[in-house]
Amino acid sequence: MSNAVHNYIVIICVSGVLSVLLGIYAYTLKSTFSGLKTFVWISVFSAIYTFSFALELASTTYEEALRWTYAEFFGMPFLAPCCLLMVMQYIGLDRFVTRRNLILMFAIPAITLLMVLTNEYHHLFYADIYIRPGETSLFLDIEIGPWYIVNGSYTFGCLLFGGILLIRQWRGARSAYRLQMAILIANLYIPMMMSFLYLMGLTPYGMDPVPVTLCVVNGLYIWSIVTSGLLTVAPVARAAIFESMRDAVLVLDPTGRVADYNGAALKLIPSLGQSSIGRTLRELAFAPSVAELIPSLEALDEEERDLRWTHEDGTVSWYKAHAWPVMRSKKQLGGKAIVFVDVTESVRLHDELRHLATVDGLTQIANRAYFMRSAEELLAKSRLAGKPCAIVLLDIDHFKSVNDEHGHAAGDQALRHVVARCQPHLRSVDLFGRYGGEEFVLCLPATDTNQAMLLAERLRGAIASHPLPLERRSLPLTASFGVAVSHSPHDTLDGLLRQADDALYRAKRGGRNAVEPGASMREDVPG
Ligand code: GH3
Ligand code: MG
Ligand code: MG
Repeated sequence: MSNAVHNYIVIICVSGVLSVLLGIYAYTLKSTFSGLKTFVWISVFSAIYTFSFALELASTTYEEALRWTYAEFFGMPFLAPCCLLMVMQYIGLDRFVTRRNLILMFAIPAITLLMVLTNEYHHLFYADIYIRPGETSLFLDIEIGPWYIVNGSYTFGCLLFGGILLIRQWRGARSAYRLQMAILIANLYIPMMMSFLYLMGLTPYGMDPVPVTLCVVNGLYIWSIVTSGLLTVAPVARAAIFESMRDAVLVLDPTGRVADYNGAALKLIPSLGQSSIGRTLRELAFAPSVAELIPSLEALDEEERDLRWTHEDGTVSWYKAHAWPVMRSKKQLGGKAIVFVDVTESVRLHDELRHLATVDGLTQIANRAYFMRSAEELLAKSRLAGKPCAIVLLDIDHFKSVNDEHGHAAGDQALRHVVARCQPHLRSVDLFGRYGGEEFVLCLPATDTNQAMLLAERLRGAIASHPLPLERRSLPLTASFGVAVSHSPHDTLDGLLRQADDALYRAKRGGRNAVEPGASMREDVPG
């Protein structure tokens, strides 16, 4: 064996050892990078390929050399598709790494292995394989068969395509990832160029330089792992982030045509699915409730706006939407992106909280705090409009005995019953609240003394004439009323409530089931 061949074998063995070490290192790594497993396989296939090649060169008989040549094919044909696979995982194309695609990717390498192992029966891979004459060392020379070309083209194709994928990601990548990418590209293209030189017969001794090249490749991998965390961090493709965002994003070009949208936007606007790119929002088929929103979507700017969105199935969602300009370059406007953040849940919670804070749980009318706030506002408005505003207090008579004789549940029922009896007689502008216990309060805007007394009388009658239906019998209920009406701008809510309360007290003392006017309005009341 010549010295050159001897040195060559040593370099190849170093390459093989590096592959094994890298493989073990990668195997023990804990990382979220999905291509890590693929990298382990690349190391395994590289090691098989290089060690077999070293043993082929070290062989002393034709049969031995042939056996190791065949052994190389347990590694070599699988390397290129594995590299392509790792690139796909590196740039975030994991969704294409499906079982079906894996079978497709590794079908040709598997056939190649079969072809090589059965070559002596068909000679489709190596048309001929023989000892090179006139050499001191044993070299095998080959004549290629048709499947050799298929395998070679496939290997080139995988490497070329992997490189193209990486180059396409280059522009959008952060500089920290560019070193990783450059090394990955080099690791695809250096072996590719070397095997091209080999095929052209331009390598020393006509020997396959790829196993030696793998030594360089492994060195570059180690460098990249140490300096930039290759295998532990991989860039997440920006397109994947856009696609997997929970918020819907719609991109319009400067003329208002749809330029892009993500999965969440498609869920929100199903009509985007029908070749919407290049069409304006007005050209898309929207449900009428959504079509109404188009002008506000077109006018949307960086200020957030709430949108009520009725979906095709009739459910309603709330979105906070805003838009921002998308720049193609520093000067050129690319259009605008509209983002829709689903705030339905917080709107629902907000409504629920507001309901809890304003409504009495038992009777579902205004609670005392909300009544007081709203009545102040109604009173102020009436004052401004120069109109009277009436306050009516009503208290259920002998309510304690309802509780005592029929139970607390019947008492609750009676409270709801009284509210239900009163409500049909009220206008939408009237405010009805539970003042406390079995006492209720009304604020009636634009209502003068006569109208207020008339309404109170009507409510009294409505309660008295409709006993509460209980399981065994009906329970007659009555209530007493005190009425106060604001006459001057100096009347306050507290003052009116005090007057109404005094009047109510008089109604109670007078025998109950009665309406009494407040002190300041008694002269207004006829009869
Ligand atoms: P009057 O005719 O003088 O108004 O007599 P009354 O029995 O109605 O007056 P009183 O203020 O003595 O009794 C009110 C009762 O209302 C006492 C209390 O147990 C009951 N009550 C207060 N809030 C509720 C409630 O939410 N549910 C029920 N079932 N009872 C309540
Ligand atoms: Mg009472
Ligand atoms: Mg009471």
